[in-house]
Amino acid sequence: MAKQKPLQILFFPLPSPGHIIPMIDLAKLFASRGAQSTIILTPLNASRFNSTIARSQSLNHRIKLHVIPFPSSLLPPNCESTDTLPDRSLSESFSQALSLMQPEFDQVVRSEPPDAIVSDLLLSWIAPVANELNIPRYAFPGTGCFPLSVELSILMNRAQIGSVDEFIVPGLPNKVYLTRFKLAETTLPGEKSKEFFDRARKVNLSTVDLVVNSFSDLEPAYAEYYQRVMGKRAWMVGPVSLCNQEPSDMVERGRGVIPPEAGQIFQFLDNKPTGSVLYVCFGSLCQFPLAQLKEIGFGLGTSNVPFIWVIREGQGGSHEEWMEDFEKSVDGRGMVVKGWAPQVGILSHMAVGGFMTHCGWGSVTETVSAGVPMLTWPLFAEQFYNEILVTEVAQVGLKIGAEVGFVWNQVEKGGVVVSGEKIKEKVIWFMGNEKQVEEVRKRAKMLGERARQAVGIEGSSYKNIQLLMEDMKQRSWRVSIKKELA
Ligand code: UDP
Repeated sequence: MAKQKPLQILFFPLPSPGHIIPMIDLAKLFASRGAQSTIILTPLNASRFNSTIARSQSLNHRIKLHVIPFPSSLLPPNCESTDTLPDRSLSESFSQALSLMQPEFDQVVRSEPPDAIVSDLLLSWIAPVANELNIPRYAFPGTGCFPLSVELSILMNRAQIGSVDEFIVPGLPNKVYLTRFKLAETTLPGEKSKEFFDRARKVNLSTVDLVVNSFSDLEPAYAEYYQRVMGKRAWMVGPVSLCNQEPSDMVERGRGVIPPEAGQIFQFLDNKPTGSVLYVCFGSLCQFPLAQLKEIGFGLGTSNVPFIWVIREGQGGSHEEWMEDFEKSVDGRGMVVKGWAPQVGILSHMAVGGFMTHCGWGSVTETVSAGVPMLTWPLFAEQFYNEILVTEVAQVGLKIGAEVGFVWNQVEKGGVVVSGEKIKEKVIWFMGNEKQVEEVRKRAKMLGERARQAVGIEGSSYKNIQLLMEDMKQRSWRVSIKKELA
């Protein structure tokens, strides 16, 4: 009997670390379960994932990159990922450049039509060729069912919510209080931005289902809520970061090379007592006004708590005199990483007892997977919704107390949102032994175990991958039959 051809899945991520990293994990997961995964990347992004893919191939998994050029006419060189844009005012040109990739993408799809496409929810121009060729297309939202549900409810109840300062998000399984200052659109304002998200939402109506980096115990009622409202299934197949179990996979994740400071970081952690270190990182895109950066320095510096603080490359102030003085003053107790830290590796180290995070979805799921509690400080987009999930629904984190975010293109105007004194107070409390904190710690550990169970053999996410692959096969098969009969 002829051997059955493996299921061919084409992945197209949004070139932004918070979206591309989990989609690479996703492609690896499908390949490890017998599918042929092909990921479309541009050259710079490919260079960040070559070694990861090579390791997966060395396990005989069918996975490969398909590199297409990045349309560079609208942007300075090397701006192939949101984190490499020198300036946020270039975001619009970046999204225009992305849409210029459509002909290349169409060409890839036409030359070898896959059985299914998994593409980022925000890449709306992928739909036409998939629809034309009847290829089932699944959207990867890069975020979870809870924030998607909050967003849906707000969209549906716009008139009822109006412009009041505080409201309960209508119709959700939990009582979710929000203020208008915490809405995603408040930090991502402007007609162009609205158009971009509206287009993505519209086009997503033609997707088959969603593939979500989450697991049922993290947001149990929300996959159902989403399905009830949208009529689409949200396949929870995560946390996908847990597919990185080898040290090299954890340490090189997202960059393809070992970050220069990795040795120092792990040596630092090895010398600290279990659960004593606060890891502080605000994702791949954060920007703070210099004044806020200094307040964080003050809070961490005076807290007496051991910490690792990651400051994005090029963040104002990272090379200034105050930073040098700061580093000297905390030498031995605190470590500043300028650039990229091996986050998943750090979170899995015994010495880490908490994570001060901006609540990007990737960070949330990685922290939950590691069983580490979060001190939450959302900055923009849907991060305030994620904070509510973490602190109120799952109760595996505590809020630092940020009541407003930073507007995408006007960060300097944001000033100081959380003062150094408050940061110090919250850090000491969060890393201490008060009952409320101990309970959060316990729950974080428990949820971490559940996350590992979910991706383990026969766990809910493990089973969902199998079922989803069958779903893809059946849809693709039905398309072939229709073609034969036409
Ligand atoms: N990340 C990392 N090292 C860093 C900064 C970020 O490994 O120094 C990774 C992090 O583990 C996560 C992704 O980059 O996988 C960031 O995604 P997230 O959704 O948390 O936030 P975003 O960057 O999209 O705001």
